[in-house]
Amino acid sequence: MGYVVPRVEILLELFQRPQRRQLQHLFEHFGIRFKPLARVRRFVMSSLQQTVPISGELGYLVERSQSRDAVEVQLAEKLQSKITFDTMVDYRELVNKYDYVVVAEGNLMTARNLNVLACTMAARVKGAIILGRFDPESAMIYFNTGYARQGFGSLKPFSRERALLALNIPGVNHTELDSCWARFMEQENFRLEIIETFEIPYATGLTCRQQVGQILLTGSSGGLTDSFLGLGLMEGILSGALAGKAIAEGLNYEQLIGPLMMQVRRRFAFRKAINTLDNTGMVRLLKFIALPGVKQVIYNTNIDIINLLYPFVKKYNKKINRSYDR
Ligand SMILES: Cc1cc2nc3c(=O)[nH]c(=O)nc-3n(C[C@H](O)[C@H](O)[C@H](O)COP(=O)(O)OP(=O)(O)OC[C@H]3O[C@@H](n4cnc5c(N)ncnc54)[C@H](O)[C@@H]3O)c2cc1C
Repeated sequence: MGYVVPRVEILLELFQRPQRRQLQHLFEHFGIRFKPLARVRRFVMSSLQQTVPISGELGYLVERSQSRDAVEVQLAEKLQSKITFDTMVDYRELVNKYDYVVVAEGNLMTARNLNVLACTMAARVKGAIILGRFDPESAMIYFNTGYARQGFGSLKPFSRERALLALNIPGVNHTELDSCWARFMEQENFRLEIIETFEIPYATGLTCRQQVGQILLTGSSGGLTDSFLGLGLMEGILSGALAGKAIAEGLNYEQLIGPLMMQVRRRFAFRKAINTLDNTGMVRLLKFIALPGVKQVIYNTNIDIINLLYPFVKKYNKKINRSYDR
């Protein structure tokens, strides 16, 4: 199984600091290699009042879907074990047959069933595959509470001619998302040829355990897709690899993924803080990020910016009495 509508995901070299070369790390530590669509050399952050362009070696664009370029297809081709496609499985049926079950369903259902779900955040994303002329090494992110509330829009190219335009908003229903999308099109003045659209409701969340007996929870199933920007591709791959390592070498899986979990927990605190900002707050935040020294530190160094800012974010969350983070 996989995604029917193709999409482009971004691997920003922002979250696994001090390490930056994420694909190199994957290959060197786990022997996992896949070809991204492109390197991201330009990332543009846009808000109501300003546009902040950032240049550098910023990450990768990766395709997800059932096409030949999709990361899951590339990885599946390398597997020597048998894959059974188009079958929904339930971990409860597998636990009696196998020593271990690694759950990677892309949702929090198993965590909920096992009573290890600490908290969740619901969001919806609407996306469109669009045709036009794009820089294949560039991605855009749009912040504007007028249409994205505390979420964001994004534009990520598959190629020079095709891109994914998406709007990701926490806590909206289908009708609200539709009208936000219409405002997104209007306010950003998009005149596009849309060839396909999709809408996905999804929940991110935190888990208090990632292994229960012989069941190991990886990727989104383990709460490893963040609630901050909805990112989790690298965390999904890494936690899957670490689950394999834990089983093969008799190691403690929860300890192995401890640093990943801590990052995701911290990013959850960032999301809580962002959810309190109005447009003025968002504009101020972007203005701060746009300061030359600040954007340089965030995007073009090895400094672990999330951990650096976390104490301030935690303090802010406490101040507004909405602290979910630990
Ligand atoms: C629109 C959108 C855009 C995103 N953009 C980014 C991005 O730019 N960068 C980023 O890092 N992350 C992004 N993410 C998040 C990223 O996709 C996830 O973090 C990542 O896919 C999690 O990987 P996973 O292996 O846990 O789950 P998935 O990749 O979702 O894989 C789960 C698979 O399990 C299958 N499945 C589910 N239930 C069962 C069952 N019972 N039996 C058998 N199979 C089952 C599903 O069909 C699916 O193929 C985005 C997510 C969305 C929705």
